[in-house]
Amino acid sequence: MAEAVDVLFINPGNRKQIYQDLGDEFCGIEPPAFGALFATYLRQQGLRVALIDGPAFNMSADEIANSAIDDYRARLIVIVVYGNQPSASSQTMTSAGAVARHIKDGDPDARILMTGTHPAALPERTMLEEPIDFVCDLEGPVTIHKTFEALKAGDESFADVPSLWWRDEGRIIKPRSAEPLITSLDREMPGIAWDLLPMDRYRSHNWHAFDHLEDRSYASMHTSLGCPYKCSFCCINAPFGKPAYRMWSPRVVVDEIAFLAETYGVKNIKFVDEMFVLNKRHVLEICDLLIERDLGVNIWAYARVDTVQDQFLDKLKAAGVNWLCLGIESASDNVRDGALKKFENEDIIDVVRRIQGAGIYILGNFIFGLPDDTMERMQSTLDLALELNCEFANFYSAMAYPGSPLYAEADASGSELPSSWHQFSQHAYDSLPLANAHCTSADILEFRDQAWQTYFTDSNYLSMVRRTFGDDVVDHIERMVKIPLARRIVEEKYAA
Ligand code: SF4
Repeated sequence: MAEAVDVLFINPGNRKQIYQDLGDEFCGIEPPAFGALFATYLRQQGLRVALIDGPAFNMSADEIANSAIDDYRARLIVIVVYGNQPSASSQTMTSAGAVARHIKDGDPDARILMTGTHPAALPERTMLEEPIDFVCDLEGPVTIHKTFEALKAGDESFADVPSLWWRDEGRIIKPRSAEPLITSLDREMPGIAWDLLPMDRYRSHNWHAFDHLEDRSYASMHTSLGCPYKCSFCCINAPFGKPAYRMWSPRVVVDEIAFLAETYGVKNIKFVDEMFVLNKRHVLEICDLLIERDLGVNIWAYARVDTVQDQFLDKLKAAGVNWLCLGIESASDNVRDGALKKFENEDIIDVVRRIQGAGIYILGNFIFGLPDDTMERMQSTLDLALELNCEFANFYSAMAYPGSPLYAEADASGSELPSSWHQFSQHAYDSLPLANAHCTSADILEFRDQAWQTYFTDSNYLSMVRRTFGDDVVDHIERMVKIPLARRIVEEKYAA
């Protein structure tokens, strides 16, 4: 039995429920960046912490719960429901709830707090639905610390803890104050507690390592938190309470990357920031330091079509930022404008070509089924994807994620929304995209799956991959597209 800890963090998740049988070769396994950041914050306050990463070991909910009860004896258990990207929080809730139930079955006295994008977006509902004691409705670390201190003091009133929803003799009590956002990330939360994580279990996404599929050693980390934009389908700012943007200093970021490369031999790194290429000084200073340190890492990061400027590109490439992920979303101006992304198709084509011209590969993100999308417009989006011929592409069905303006609209208008949280997964058998005025959920999901097949079997795409990455990567992609993705609502459409 390990030594008792003050706070135990749990990263929940059920890979089979979320991804079906996509296979280890084609999926990445990401470190739980938020949980391990919060662990650093608590260590700065002098607390003893531990973390169980369920998905890294493919643990079931009862295995996670048994380990939590038997191995750690924590005063406070925190289930961190963040996912690998903002939209991946809700899909994790089914597993998070199962973990909480198993813990309470095994130890009714365990005190459980949930934090993350989904609980922050729907705190009261989370309190009503899950067998937990607390929900944090903002960022997390300060609330977690103050909750622990209250428990340690034997306090059974949590009224002074900011952003904490709690129970008083069965009644759900709202917080009286809001958790302050951390202002000095460098000082208060200087990087991830890597030593708590099973670093040899993490694996990059396949495409991220197309230049070297034999080495998928991996870590994901932030250089900033939040996003100043307000796209209608995005829930990123739910835990921050407003569109906000805070950065770690470039020196702290690059020291952390050097630590990963030198201590764990990590080659592939993801910047989790939903918007890395934004602040000119931040980006260029990180690039300069990476160029100076020459760490040999292979980085991917997010950018927006309207934030990529030529002055960034050569520096990014020289720094090892070999992939940029662009949220292209749709070929239709109407659909993009509805999502509050105001740029034209010509801008997209121009930016993609300029990025590729600098030797940086592109992961293009496309969404089918946003409000105003039609079958015709979805086909135009697929045609644009084929014309752009990005080195990799993600195709999403529009979902109204809790915490996004789209969710508030869908909820208010009585649109059908998932009844189980894992139905928010893009790859699940039970996946349920949002229908719109023109297309059913099944139409959109079926179109998305066919678009995926069309793109990755396209001869123009495969020729480009062969020229750029070689025959092995073409073989890899051909194996990937043979894996079937079953969908309940599409099966029902044809059974009807
Ligand atoms: S740019 Fe839009 S989609 Fe991307 S993180 Fe910001 S709000 Fe979300």
